[in-house]
Amino acid sequence: MIKKYMTFQKNNGIAPYIWTVLCILPFYFIFQSPSTIEIVVGILLTLIFFILYRIAFISKGWPVYLWTLILIGISITATSLFSYVYFAFFLAYFIGNIKDRVPFLTLYFIHLLSTSASINYSIVMQEKLFLQQLPFVIIIWISVILLPFSIYNRKERGQLEEKLEDANKKISELVKMEERQRIARDLHDTLGQKLSLIGLKTDLARKLITKDPEQARNELKDVQQTARTALSEVRKMVSSMRGIRLKDEILQVKQMLKAAQIQCVCEGEFNLTNVSLLTENILSMCLKEAVNNVVKHSGASSCYVSIEQSWKDIVLTVRDDGIFKVEESFKAEGHGLIGMKERLEFINGSLELVTSDGTVLNIRVPNDVKPELDKEERK
Ligand code: ATP
Ligand code: MG
Repeated sequence: MIKKYMTFQKNNGIAPYIWTVLCILPFYFIFQSPSTIEIVVGILLTLIFFILYRIAFISKGWPVYLWTLILIGISITATSLFSYVYFAFFLAYFIGNIKDRVPFLTLYFIHLLSTSASINYSIVMQEKLFLQQLPFVIIIWISVILLPFSIYNRKERGQLEEKLEDANKKISELVKMEERQRIARDLHDTLGQKLSLIGLKTDLARKLITKDPEQARNELKDVQQTARTALSEVRKMVSSMRGIRLKDEILQVKQMLKAAQIQCVCEGEFNLTNVSLLTENILSMCLKEAVNNVVKHSGASSCYVSIEQSWKDIVLTVRDDGIFKVEESFKAEGHGLIGMKERLEFINGSLELVTSDGTVLNIRVPNDVKPELDKEERK
């Protein structure tokens, strides 16, 4: 209990003492009055003031106006009857805590005008008790002018800071999510493809082991090589998430199609110019996934890969003469096509899938680099 009290004091500084004095003070002023009726009225007004003050703090909407106006009325009465001006300080504090701008300004000006008028009235009437405490009255009057704005601005700043903090948290969450998705896509496209190739080649080696042991040994050598490449790719990916060139990727694609015994026809210039590294990287990943799908799902005997570069865009086509398999269960759906689409959307590219006669995948990306810039970037 004592600990709690100490913490309360530490957090609030001398404010609780000021509030306590301000709460006791009205009774001192009321008991100065010679008439008993006035004393009773004063005590009642003070009690009503504190009850309504508490209610006003928890009210919302129009009742705030009502309670504040009654409180202002009590404050004016206390000033003129008992020369007690300090209720104005309570009101200034309350008005500063009103969140909405319009009620805040309205009540602020009403309170300022009424307090100024009642102070003037008491000065004009030459109230003795009032004139004795004139320096304090001036302090209260200045508080009525400044305190609401200072509290209001501090609250507004606090709210803005909270919003900013929220926004920052959201941004960092989004960045994390985007990064996770990117890593998932990259893992799928690099490791996934290599592991499929290893699977295909070991299968082939298993079939050949009795028929043609020499060929089987070659296939196993390829498996070893692919595993090494996969490992180095993962290392590179982890260390720098490096960009993959299309001309390198097409060599791997050819190797993969050969291993799957699918005839490969390539057309076009895979050594791209006037294309940013990011675009080339994304095109390489898409090519890898498209060919991976041909090998995994199509059952095709031949695959045609072409690239056409015009002044405004690049079109990459991967066509096979197999059969497009429609997934029956939703759960079995993979991430390859979705990942491709997401990547392409990132660079304003598009993906078109035609499945009428075999499977045709048209990938279109805009040319995004001017020739001079490209040269500098590639240095
Ligand atoms: P993942 O790529 O995640 O390993 P996946 O290859 O099954 O799994 P997607 O690449 O998105 O997933 O392909 C979705 C589905 O579309 C495949 O499961 C398959 O049924 C079908 N599909 C895609 N490409 C072809 C293709 N060239 N020939 C036949 N079917 C295809
Ligand atoms: Mg796939």
